[in-house]
Amino acid sequence: MRFGLSVVGGACLVCGLLAGAVGCLQAEGTTGTTGAVAVGGEDEPRNAGATPALPDVPDPDAVEDWRAVTDAQWRERLTREQFRVLRRHGTERAGSGVLLHNNAEGTYVCAGCGAPLFASSAKYDSGTGWPSFWQPIAEDAVGRMEDRSLGMVRTEVHCARCGGHQGHVFPDGPEPTGLRYCINSASLAFVPAE
Ligand SMILES: [Zn+2]
Repeated sequence: MRFGLSVVGGACLVCGLLAGAVGCLQAEGTTGTTGAVAVGGEDEPRNAGATPALPDVPDPDAVEDWRAVTDAQWRERLTREQFRVLRRHGTERAGSGVLLHNNAEGTYVCAGCGAPLFASSAKYDSGTGWPSFWQPIAEDAVGRMEDRSLGMVRTEVHCARCGGHQGHVFPDGPEPTGLRYCINSASLAFVPAE
């Protein structure tokens, strides 16, 4: 009998956690191959370790009044990261977004409610690590609000339909607007052009 280092059904007996998901050291030592243990947990990220799948595109007609959606309902609709960014004004780690390097033609919609927010033709590489656009798809597609958090004065940008936090807009973008809409990939879904 091996002492305490067995991995059974994907869960490490020593740390009690799913081995492949959290990099349990004991599990690694036992199997010899990181990630060799199949992980079947429903909360695991899709395609962990591979290129992440594009986010689901919400049906804009699924809800009549998007402003009335409660936090509990949002938690059911969104991933943890989407909820943190959209509903808690979070910011994703720079360079981490799956849509950061998406160069396909199409429309970026709100990951919360599906409202069209940005066209691919206004997307550019700002080098910041966040998807950047020089204008929204329509002036009234996004709302703007002064944000004095983190000791800075910034202009916060949110989805005009559901109020979901998108990012901030800065006056250092390219022509013709001179604006940089610095948007979280987690706040967006993408609809490819037909
Ligand atoms: Zn929205």
